[in-house]
Amino acid sequence: MADCIFCRIVAGQVPCHKVTEDDRTVAFMDIGQVNPGHVLVVVKPHHATLTDLDEELAAAAMRTVHRVARTIRRELQPAGLTLLQANGEAGWQTVPHFHVHVLPRRSGDAPRLEWPAMNPPQDALAAMAKRLQC
Ligand code: AMP
Ligand code: ZN
Repeated sequence: MADCIFCRIVAGQVPCHKVTEDDRTVAFMDIGQVNPGHVLVVVKPHHATLTDLDEELAAAAMRTVHRVARTIRRELQPAGLTLLQANGEAGWQTVPHFHVHVLPRRSGDAPRLEWPAMNPPQDALAAMAKRLQC
């Protein structure tokens, strides 16, 4: 995709600070650095969201995430680590090419995520679980 920034990085047309690469994925420093050590893991072929990946590519992405996370743990010893993978505008995705944020955390740092629990009744939970059997 000529107008996709991550496709252009994968193709070597736009520079990045790469930390690892294999045949299906590449990981590089996020240009915004929400915290120091913020890395993006990107799949090489252009697919917008998680559900556009086949199982193998999704597994390859998670293998790279795991490798990057363990390297961050070894090198930076953060107090915590957050993975963020956004899909669609409503899901907070701004670059529509599948990627996972690997974000080192420290207590009291700036990132915020509101997580308003709806606490539905058990029968609603059971009905939804039935729909989502897979
Ligand atoms: P998201 O909002 O989850 O789609 O995240 C997109 C991320 O891509 C943001 O954190 C940006 O800082 C990052 N980003 C955009 N352009 C570049 C680039 N050229 N190199 C590295 N990171 C980028
Ligand atoms: Zn792309």
